[in-house]
Amino acid sequence: MEYEGIVYRPPSEAYSLIVQVTIGCSHNGCTFCGMYKDKRFRVRELKEIMADLEQAKLDYGVVKRIFLADGDALVLKTSELKIILLKIKELFPGCERVGVYATPNDILAKSVEDLSLLKALGIGILYLGVESGSNEILKSINKGVTAQNLIMAGRKVKESGIKLSTTLISGIGGREKISENAIESAKLISAINPDYVGFLTLMLESGTSIYKDIQNDIFHVLTSEEVVQELREFLENVEVTNCIFRSNHASNYVSLSGTLPVDKDKLLSDIDITLKGKHGYKQEEYRRL
Ligand code: SF4
Repeated sequence: MEYEGIVYRPPSEAYSLIVQVTIGCSHNGCTFCGMYKDKRFRVRELKEIMADLEQAKLDYGVVKRIFLADGDALVLKTSELKIILLKIKELFPGCERVGVYATPNDILAKSVEDLSLLKALGIGILYLGVESGSNEILKSINKGVTAQNLIMAGRKVKESGIKLSTTLISGIGGREKISENAIESAKLISAINPDYVGFLTLMLESGTSIYKDIQNDIFHVLTSEEVVQELREFLENVEVTNCIFRSNHASNYVSLSGTLPVDKDKLLSDIDITLKGKHGYKQEEYRRL
């Protein structure tokens, strides 16, 4: 199988078959994101997607998990996704889960019935980049939606029964908005109550507009210690039930994981040990996207 450009997928899809159903991201406007800047967004022709699936059957035979790339496969019409998912069922009857990235607007454009149908056809998990719960920060990073839109989108996914994995970004509000990012993000995640909440830490990619703001002294990047303090404030304030928490992405300074709320005290205590000891942080050169 051949892929067009660099293909990104969530860490939990490391062993999945990746099939591109779109090229790039339909929004492609977030100020910090350089992932799809070199791609002009388009939905691939169905016949190309089918050919990839047929080829994967020849190459791999049995496939347990599939991730539909690129940036937001959920932008496809439900009828198109149905055709793809039925083909997956035909070729890979043992496939246990299909995963997709989705923008909040992709989700809001679908009904709960659409999402429930997609679940019945095999979509088992949906990855939603929330980034922050602060309206001011969402506006400044050009996310294109409000916190209320994100809550509505997240709740819709939960109602459909599809597992929801949300991602926030440590440091996305800059040094001046550490508490705002932590507290508003905690409020938003509490309102959605997703199955998973993960943190990335802001990475600086040349060519993005946030990178230019840093060079022009408009945006101030957090130190590793400030990132961990922000995370602590989030954890103190978030209230969810049975939510898997992870900050063990390659971009994070400190690797943490647990289930909320049962592991909250342990997570806070691990953070305090790191903050007191002033060690245990990943070195800058080892951080990756
Ligand atoms: S962060 Fe997500 S929605 Fe924003 S431009 Fe990048 S891929 Fe698209």
